[in-house]
Amino acid sequence: MKKAACWILAAVQLLVVTGCWLWFHTHHAMGNLLTGDAAGKLLAWGRLAGLLAVLAILFQLMLVGRVRWVERCYGMDRLTRLHHVSGFALILLLILHPVLVTFGHAIQADLSYWEQMADFCKTWRGLLTAVIGLSLMIGASVFSVLVLLKRVRYELWYATHLVLYVAFGLTFLHQVVSGSDLTDHPAFKFYWIALYAFVFVNLAVYRFAWPLLAFARHRFVVTQVVPETGDVTSVYIGGKHLEKFHVESGQFMIVRFLADGFRWEAHPFSLSCLPDEKHLRLSIKRLGDFTRRIPELKPGTPVLIDGPHGVFTSRTCSSDKVLLIAGGIGVTPIRSLAEELVGVGHDVIMIYGNRNSETIVFKNELDELAARTGSKFRLVYVMSDDPAWPGEKGRVDRERIARLVPDLADRDIYLCGPPVMMKGVRTALAGLGVPARRIHAERFAL
Ligand SMILES: Cc1cc2nc3c(=O)[nH]c(=O)nc-3n(C[C@H](O)[C@H](O)[C@H](O)COP(=O)(O)OP(=O)(O)OC[C@H]3O[C@@H](n4cnc5c(N)ncnc54)[C@H](O)[C@@H]3O)c2cc1C
Repeated sequence: MKKAACWILAAVQLLVVTGCWLWFHTHHAMGNLLTGDAAGKLLAWGRLAGLLAVLAILFQLMLVGRVRWVERCYGMDRLTRLHHVSGFALILLLILHPVLVTFGHAIQADLSYWEQMADFCKTWRGLLTAVIGLSLMIGASVFSVLVLLKRVRYELWYATHLVLYVAFGLTFLHQVVSGSDLTDHPAFKFYWIALYAFVFVNLAVYRFAWPLLAFARHRFVVTQVVPETGDVTSVYIGGKHLEKFHVESGQFMIVRFLADGFRWEAHPFSLSCLPDEKHLRLSIKRLGDFTRRIPELKPGTPVLIDGPHGVFTSRTCSSDKVLLIAGGIGVTPIRSLAEELVGVGHDVIMIYGNRNSETIVFKNELDELAARTGSKFRLVYVMSDDPAWPGEKGRVDRERIARLVPDLADRDIYLCGPPVMMKGVRTALAGLGVPARRIHAERFAL
């Protein structure tokens, strides 16, 4: 229901904008869209590309602005994927707008394309800033493709994305000063500005104000830094009134440790055990330059928390029988879900894949949970590269899942692990006839 409401809201904006554009350009004194000359048509279509480009940008901001009511419907990883995919359509619109409009004016003024462009920049108010803004946007989009191809560092890409806010400001000036669809129609201009205000208020509230308010209320602080197995460290976070900080097992938070060497980066980490009134626990694997420094964190370090986020929770479960599948550090949300689901009486099987027995995180805790809860929690470790392991050896594949989980058809499945493993398990589950709606997955990538 809420999902449908989100889509209807977006579709209504699309209809309003295209509807107004159609009205303006079929009732335009200079260039009728239906009967006018080529220049008039180029101008009309170019303006539509511009309007839709801005609409797409605002849509993009709502997708990744951590807007809680949107995120609760879809989950952040799905929104991020949609953001990546729709970004490509946006680039096309961003390029089409100036090309079509410049050609249209060039024909009307009997100039070449470049002469027209130079004239724009010299004589049109707000045009130069729009050109700069547009160049910044296209540059940032190219960078995004490079980061998807893993050619540039995440942090560098993130910094360039911040430049986009400046770019939006520059193009906004162009729209309200020289965009004739807006300047000629005050009611449409009002709607347009209201649309911007709606998006930026949502961003201001959810992206910036919310974490600051949560910090003011709870005063999150690192209380303990505990080494786990191998290259994993658990960070315990305490604070005031934690019972009023509503976080569910399986969710993640984007944390910023306010200490030298940490404060300029915020990273997402899942809750690795059920939250209680005293602490939240994150368990972090050493992977890159940020996570490598986690063991150096000192108790007493204040923490800014953005979240909780995510829909990888028991709310999406439609059965009282569950299969949890974890791989490597993907065990963090699975570990907290296991504790919750077993606690409320679900029948849980957990398959936990690792390279070897030395890399199993939380082994004692999981064994203890299995011993305590008896037949309600069946725990199977699978080692992919440990000849001495007495139990299951190999990958979590179709044959193994079918053998270990004979009542698979009755279970909801929660999956979190390295991308290759998740892909393999999804294929195996599809091959075993599990419908996609029963598979709940968390990707450790945004
Ligand atoms: C929803 C979610 C939950 C996660 N939960 C855990 C967890 O419980 N335990 C754990 O150890 N890891 C978890 N991760 C992964 C963790 O966020 C990355 O390992 C960490 O951010 C890497 O940072 P780095 O600078 O050390 O490594 P880098 O080598 O700089 O980055 C490695 C990769 O991590 C991703 N990444 C880096 N920085 C960020 C960032 N600021 N935001 C988003 N992605 C980033 C990028 O894909 C990058 O390619 C989770 C990730 C997500 C998306």
